[in-house]
Amino acid sequence: MAYTITDKCVSCGTCEGECPVGAISQGDTQYNIDADACIDCGTCASVCPTEAIIA
Ligand code: SF4
Ligand code: SF4
Repeated sequence: MAYTITDKCVSCGTCEGECPVGAISQGDTQYNIDADACIDCGTCASVCPTEAIIA
């Protein structure tokens, strides 16, 4: 299971630069994770200030 970004995302952009495989990108209303690219490392979830990223 890939990690997922919920609507608690405030588009701060912190997670994007921390993902080792570049799976996170900015969307229209929030950031999104490419489920096929995500390797489930959990780094993004640990750096998100609003705990918007869930496993
Ligand atoms: S869990 Fe790891 S690989 Fe998946 S989106 Fe987050 S930082 Fe990237
Ligand atoms: S770190 Fe959290 S709040 Fe910031 S862009 Fe990523 S998911 Fe959104």
